[in-house]
Amino acid sequence: MRTETFTCVRCGLTVGVLDPSGGRRDHCPSCLHSRHLRDHVTGGPADCGARMTPIAIAVPRGGGWTLVHRCTACATLSTGQVAPDDNQLVLVRLAVRPIAQPPFPLEAFGDL
Ligand SMILES: [Zn+2]
Ligand SMILES: [Zn+2]
Repeated sequence: MRTETFTCVRCGLTVGVLDPSGGRRDHCPSCLHSRHLRDHVTGGPADCGARMTPIAIAVPRGGGWTLVHRCTACATLSTGQVAPDDNQLVLVRLAVRPIAQPPFPLEAFGDL
């Protein structure tokens, strides 16, 4: 049986397209970067092909973590499932970023 792989455009890691839970990966488990290969409006292939940077974690209704990517060329946003072996340090860094860099002082909540 031949295992399909792709090469990460950022760190060069060779990645099997299936994660340990059998889901299909759309990003690198090490640096979490992706490639703009799918048109997220039509669901068909996109001819962009540029690197997509992970910018945030979203939690959909029903729980779980979803990774939000933004294309470095055309700024398209896409979401993808977090895999069981994704780099947990990078995931947590993304998740705490809004709280670590608030646009207003958090001290105000100390009195609540
Ligand atoms: Zn990578
Ligand atoms: Zn793009």
